[in-house]
Amino acid sequence: MQASEKILRSCVHCGFCTATCPTYLLLGDELDSPRGRIYLIKDMFENGRPATKEVVRHVDRCLSCLSCMSTCPSGVNYMHLVDHARAHIEKTYQRDWTDRLMRAMLAAILPYPNRLRWALALAGFARPFAGLLRPIPKLGARLAAMLELAPWRLPPRTTLDHPQTISATATQRGRVALLSGCAQPVLNPDINEATVRLLTRMGLEIVLPEGEGCCGALVHHIGKEDQAHAAAKRNIDAWCAEIDGKGLDAIVITASGCGTSIKDYGFMFRNDPAYAEKAAKVSALAKDVTEVVSRFGLPDTTRKPDLVVAYHSACSMQHGQQIKDEPKKLLKAAGFQIRDVPEGHICCGSAGTYNILQPEIAGRLRARKVGNIMKMSPEVIATGNLGCMTQIGKGLREAQHTVPILHSVELLDWATGGPMPPVLVERGFAEPAPTAIAAE
Ligand code: SF4
Ligand code: SF4
Repeated sequence: MQASEKILRSCVHCGFCTATCPTYLLLGDELDSPRGRIYLIKDMFENGRPATKEVVRHVDRCLSCLSCMSTCPSGVNYMHLVDHARAHIEKTYQRDWTDRLMRAMLAAILPYPNRLRWALALAGFARPFAGLLRPIPKLGARLAAMLELAPWRLPPRTTLDHPQTISATATQRGRVALLSGCAQPVLNPDINEATVRLLTRMGLEIVLPEGEGCCGALVHHIGKEDQAHAAAKRNIDAWCAEIDGKGLDAIVITASGCGTSIKDYGFMFRNDPAYAEKAAKVSALAKDVTEVVSRFGLPDTTRKPDLVVAYHSACSMQHGQQIKDEPKKLLKAAGFQIRDVPEGHICCGSAGTYNILQPEIAGRLRARKVGNIMKMSPEVIATGNLGCMTQIGKGLREAQHTVPILHSVELLDWATGGPMPPVLVERGFAEPAPTAIAAE
């Protein structure tokens, strides 16, 4: 509570943050702005009250995109405040049964790759009936959104789905752990496979430690603090065993949403005598893959694809981790033409489970984002977060655009000697001629 009181005191209510808040932009209600939510949370905490229906409605509509934190001149840590408010809501407010059912289902499935695989297989059968579910009051739109986000077919299992150590393919310069994650290896194993090829080519040994799994972010954002902390502690134990063993130069994360959470483990466990030090150590080593590639240096390019790439910066990348230029610099160095997306600071509406729990707002943000991206006439879209890829991918299909969306690391791997990303093969992209370095 002390931390939240300090945050509440630091807000001077200037309202600068309202200009960059996606929900205020769409809904125009002060209570759907950061300042309005801060007022509601302040009132709840200062009076020691349980959450009310009004507080829940407006906090639930918050994307946790953290655009307000990038804008705030007073350094208000809205992330920690809204996380605390969500945990308080979970403990003090009785949601209606449809809400409880949806949240329990998401928390029981998404963090567990095997359960998710089964659920997606079932979703494949149910998907044609998504439209029939939509009229069901309170539940229908969410169930339909969930089915429509599920892929038509699941990719095959990755060989990176179990603990292992992968040797560097060049002279070894370091040793890193790679977060396998939960939903990402099921939905898009190409991302971590491209990461492994790229990092080993850079001379990094990669370990996928025993016991590591979901970072806890998905459940943390729906207020399930105990479940999130248990997941975080499992990871901290797994990574600390490696740090204390052969040592680690970094913990590499390929989903910026997970990166924001893992970088916050130090704060999460600051008052836990058994975990405070270990969590701070893990947070200090946690790096987005583009930070690691920048630090160790991009390998020489073997082909110059020269494609026009619209770079979509995920909120968790630009606002959560304040990583703004590294991915674009790397893509440019690899030979791509980078175009910034107008209104790039505004969320695409993915936001963890937001696009399932708040499908109407998420749908409006998705359409707005796709419209802005397509103004750049890209040949390819790049980003650093699977959630955004899924959300924008759905928007592209809805608007009947065929431009592919990929993770930045897939493009970096391709330009420096990896195979053409499968999505580009499927869409008939031509393999560019080898560069002089590769031809020598
Ligand atoms: S959060 Fe920051 S920008 Fe927003 S009202 Fe408070 S001080 Fe102003
Ligand atoms: S996190 Fe995003 S949606 Fe929530 S108040 Fe801040 S800017 Fe608005």
